Amino acid sequence: MSFSSLGLSEPILKAVSKQGYEKPSPIQEQAIPAILEGKDIMAAAQTGTGKTAGFTLPLLERLSKGKPVRSNHVRALVLTPTRELAAQVGESVAKYAKHLSISSAVVFGGVKVSPQMLRMRKGADVLVATPGRLMDLHSQNAVKFQDVEILVLDEADRMLDMGFIRDIRKILALLPKQRQNLLFSATFSDDIRNLAKGLVNDPVEIDVNPRNQTARTVNQWICPVDQKKKANLLTHLLTDRQWKQVLVFTKTKHGANRLATHLEGRGISAAAIHGNKSQAARTKALANFKAGEVRVLVATDIAARGLDIEQLPQVVNFDLPHVPEDYVHRIGRTGRAGAVGEAISLVCAEEFKDLQAIERLTQQVLHREIIDGFNPINKLGVSRLNTTPIKAKKPKINRQLQSGASLKQTERRPSSKPRTPRKPT
Ligand code: AMP
Repeated sequence: MSFSSLGLSEPILKAVSKQGYEKPSPIQEQAIPAILEGKDIMAAAQTGTGKTAGFTLPLLERLSKGKPVRSNHVRALVLTPTRELAAQVGESVAKYAKHLSISSAVVFGGVKVSPQMLRMRKGADVLVATPGRLMDLHSQNAVKFQDVEILVLDEADRMLDMGFIRDIRKILALLPKQRQNLLFSATFSDDIRNLAKGLVNDPVEIDVNPRNQTARTVNQWICPVDQKKKANLLTHLLTDRQWKQVLVFTKTKHGANRLATHLEGRGISAAAIHGNKSQAARTKALANFKAGEVRVLVATDIAARGLDIEQLPQVVNFDLPHVPEDYVHRIGRTGRAGAVGEAISLVCAEEFKDLQAIERLTQQVLHREIIDGFNPINKLGVSRLNTTPIKAKKPKINRQLQSGASLKQTERRPSSKPRTPRKPT
C-alpha cells in the first residue's frame, strides 16, 4: 500500500514524501480513506502509531476542496489535552499543509491571550487548541464555531483523565450539528464510549493497538533496587551504558525536580518538566532536549503525554506508575516507527504491588537484572503472572468524571485536599 493509492492529492503527497515516509502506517491505511469519505471515526491508537498524520492528511485534503475561511472562523477544530501536544500537532499540520493554501493556528493557555486573539482575526482553516483556552477565546468572540466542518478529539482518554469533560461538552454543544467527528484515544474505556455516544455518528472503528499490549519492539526490563539508591543507580546506568538521551518518569513533580538537581550535580545535563513549570520553561526544556543539549528529561506522566521525541532509545521509569495503563503510555515513547527501544524500570520493594499490576495488565513477567553494587537490602517480591482477567471499572468512576474530577494524576491530587478539576490550560 502506498500513500498515493489512499486518495490524497499531489500537494499532500509531496509534503509526505518530504518527511521521508515510505508507506502508510496501519492507522493511516485505515483512517485516511474513511475520513476522505466523510465518515466519523473512533480510533484506538497511541502516540507513535502515526495517528497525527492519520487524521491531518485527509482533513487537509477535505478542507482544500472547500470555501476559504472567514474572519475569526474555524473549519477544522483539533482539541488536545496538553499544550505540548497542541504545539506538536500544530507543527505537523503546518508541515503537511505546506503546499496547500490552508491556514492553521495553535492556541493554548499559559501564554498571553492577545496575540492569539489577533491571530484569529484572519480565521484559521485548522485550529489546534486546548479546551480551556479555546473556551476563553470563544467567550471573547475571537473564535467562532459556525463554520466548523470537522472536529478531532486527540488523546480523548487523557482529556477525560485531566478533567476536561465539562469543557468538551460545552464546546460540543456550541458546534454545528452537521459535522465530521474524529475521535482518537489510546484506549476505549467505558468512559470514552459514553463520550462517543453523543459525539460520533455510525463511526468506523479502528484499533491498531491491541488493548494494553506493550510494543514488541521495546525491550523491557527492571532493576530491583532500594528506593534511596535509585538516583545513584540511574547515574551509574547513564555512564556505564553510555545512554545518550533518556526520558525519565517520576511519580511526582517534587521527585522530578529533585532528580534533575541530583543529575545536574553529577555533571549530567538534565531538565524537569511538569505541571508546575511555566509554559516557557516547559517549551525551553523540551526544545533543549530535542536539540540534544539536555541529556536527561525528567517528566511526570501529564507533562510527558503525547511528546513526540523521535526515536528515543531509552525510557526509564524512576518510579513505577500507580496506574498500570500509564506504564504502557510511558514506554510508548521508545521503540517507535519500527526502531528497537529499551524501557528500564527501577523498582524498589515498596513498589511490588505496582509491578504486579503492570505485569498483570501487560500479561508478561518483566525480566530482572540486579546491577553490581546496587543489590537491594529490601528484597523485591517474586513475580507470578496473574492471568485472571481484570474486572471492568466500577460505575462510580463515571460520576467522578462527570463532575470534572481528575482520576489518575498523582501530581495534581494531594491526598489531603478534595479533588478539584484541573485548571483549563
Ligand atoms: P504520531 O503517532 O502521530 O505521534 O507519530 C509518530 C511519529 O511517526 C512522528 O515522528 C511522525 O513523523 C512519524 N510518522 C508518521 N507517519 C509515518 C509513516 N507513514 N512512516 C514513517 N514515520 C511516520
